[in-house]
Amino acid sequence: MEERWVYMNGEYRRKAEATVSVFDHGFLYGDGVFEGIRVYEGNVFRLREHLERLYDSAKSILLNIPHSIDELEEAVVEAVRKNGLYNAYIRLVVSRGKGELCLDPAKCADPQMIIIVDQVKMFPQKLYDQGLKIITVPTRRNIPDALNPKIKSLNYLNNILVKIEANQAGVSEALMLNSDGYVAEGSGDNIFIAKGGILYTPPGYVGALDGITRRAILDLCDRLGYEVKEQPFTRHDVYIADECFLTGTAAEVIAVVEVDGRPIGNGQPGSISRHLRKEFRKLVTVDGVQVYPESKKMELE
Ligand code: PMP
Repeated sequence: MEERWVYMNGEYRRKAEATVSVFDHGFLYGDGVFEGIRVYEGNVFRLREHLERLYDSAKSILLNIPHSIDELEEAVVEAVRKNGLYNAYIRLVVSRGKGELCLDPAKCADPQMIIIVDQVKMFPQKLYDQGLKIITVPTRRNIPDALNPKIKSLNYLNNILVKIEANQAGVSEALMLNSDGYVAEGSGDNIFIAKGGILYTPPGYVGALDGITRRAILDLCDRLGYEVKEQPFTRHDVYIADECFLTGTAAEVIAVVEVDGRPIGNGQPGSISRHLRKEFRKLVTVDGVQVYPESKKMELE
């Protein structure tokens, strides 16, 4: 396996030496924020938007990122270059840093800034061709006035519980409802449904992450002439939808063909989700920041 270099507070360390303190409040309390970003053919997809979301998350939890957004953008691009990857997954983590064995973040002087660049662990192609069978789970989405789901914090226990419930049921993803019973999102992706040619996705106030892929799909729908309504819907609306699909940096655009044992539409990936997936795959190689000059790209291809 090729050597990986991890960016840690301005320097690069080998994977084996890229370690954080057990006193880091990211480790002790999930106190920090993060981003997951993809590189497609040397293009860091919507890097600026990811960074803006990171800064917004950090601001919300009063965590000071000790770099300007331009510096961080440069650091991410440099970290990809250093690892020489053409297609990659980037994990950007900012933790509150080392502190004491008490909650108080005031005792943490140095936020830790980490950029990991690694190979993408793609879902098997089979899942994209056949679509996902998923369930809804009893665990509800965090309520926005406790820990707002728009904050991409290191506290992912809510999502992990959903993943455990999905695993126990033998499915690869599951949907959370919010505390009012409206569909919020998956453990790591946003949801769209289609009914009568119109698309629906939960609005921000239902309580879900403001996904960058979701935004890209909204832009594509606008360009391709699909009508989308951002409005709350229930589990029943999902059951009777013609189509359903999930969006996320890892999942990209993936059709859902069964929810809680009910086939969605005819039980096959629908034409709208297939169309949007195709267009999305084109967009990801051009919309963002290019890491390599054209000459180098040829070499890496
Ligand atoms: N919701 C949750 C809870 C997530 O973790 C993710 C993945 N970041 C998403 C939605 C999708 O967001 P994005 O398209 O920005 O990856």
